[in-house]
Amino acid sequence: MDRISIAAPVFNGNEKKYLNECIDTGWVSANGRFIKEFEKKFAEYCGCKYAIACCNGTVTLHVILAALGIGPGDEVIMPTLTYIATANAVKYCGGTPVFVDSEKGTFNMDPKKIEEKITEKTKVIMPVHLYGLPADMDPIVEIAKKHNLVVVEDAAEAHGAEYKGKRVGAIGKVGSFSFFGNKIITCGEGGMIVTDDKELYDKMVLLKAQGVSPEKRYWHNMVAYNYRMTNMQAAVGLGQLERIDWHLGQRKRIAELYKKYLKGFEEYMVLQEEPAGCKSVYWMSNVILQPKVKKQRDQVMAEMEARNIEMRPVFYPMHIMPPYYDETVNCPVAEEVSARGISLPSHALLTEDDIKYICESMKEIVKEP
Ligand SMILES: *Cc1c(COP(=O)(O)O)cnc(C)c1O
Repeated sequence: MDRISIAAPVFNGNEKKYLNECIDTGWVSANGRFIKEFEKKFAEYCGCKYAIACCNGTVTLHVILAALGIGPGDEVIMPTLTYIATANAVKYCGGTPVFVDSEKGTFNMDPKKIEEKITEKTKVIMPVHLYGLPADMDPIVEIAKKHNLVVVEDAAEAHGAEYKGKRVGAIGKVGSFSFFGNKIITCGEGGMIVTDDKELYDKMVLLKAQGVSPEKRYWHNMVAYNYRMTNMQAAVGLGQLERIDWHLGQRKRIAELYKKYLKGFEEYMVLQEEPAGCKSVYWMSNVILQPKVKKQRDQVMAEMEARNIEMRPVFYPMHIMPPYYDETVNCPVAEEVSARGISLPSHALLTEDDIKYICESMKEIVKEP
């Protein structure tokens, strides 16, 4: 049997046609029709007025925080359980990420543990919609309002996910997406910012593209960045976005199959929970090994690998890794989810037989002493 990989991009729309158009017309760099179209369609898709395409989903976060004026002394509240880009973007600005524990069932930032982290230096709350599941946004937005903080959504993993009928990225003041190769839709590397705020949008446009004056070519009023997306990336991204319903349908199909084949096995492993009001896009399906499983998580993963099934550990909490190590941070839930969590193969090309094989293998392996 071929190795079952954790992720695989699928290009079954206009991606190739659009990409060829870039090469045939010479519009391969940061100008061209696909950038504008991708931005426009992505903004519409999220229900936002503005979108800004960038070269990845890390610099999008950097641009957002820079435009919000985050700098030395400023604190940004975020979950400790996330991908490292969320924290790094704060560091790039000279700010300090402040880490909050997770909820056990959803893995997302626990809103009940946010307020205790707020100080007079706090400027931003940055929830992450982990593995495609919306964070609990109502209490987050409420806390932000009460303390006069800005909500920035890191929606890198959650294109199309909905919280109480609203698409993520459009719930806070500004949202960020990634189009890395393993994300829900991809253009190789890429990112997008969405917002309804015109003033913030104008600032971010400048920061993304060397701060060039809109009135005078090659005139620069500030030090900014080159974080542009190319027309070739946007061509692929637009082709993907046109078929996002298909991509989301596949993720849903995979998640349903995991539910079906792991049903009745909750004593050994439980899937990430999807609370009422949240519509996950299941970027990754994850299980948490329960105390009844005597093996270490890494051993379970190694035994699955030996059966030709690629596995991924759930993210490590930021506060246990060298760049952000802090033993005073108390986040036991995130530590447990991370220590016992496994991401399962979750891409669109998996068949029901693949999922069955993965689940049967998991069941055998976790039952053994
Ligand atoms: C993927 C990801 C990003 C951005 O990643 P890039 O590879 O830079 O596009 C940011 N935050 C989270 C939570 C992610 O998963």
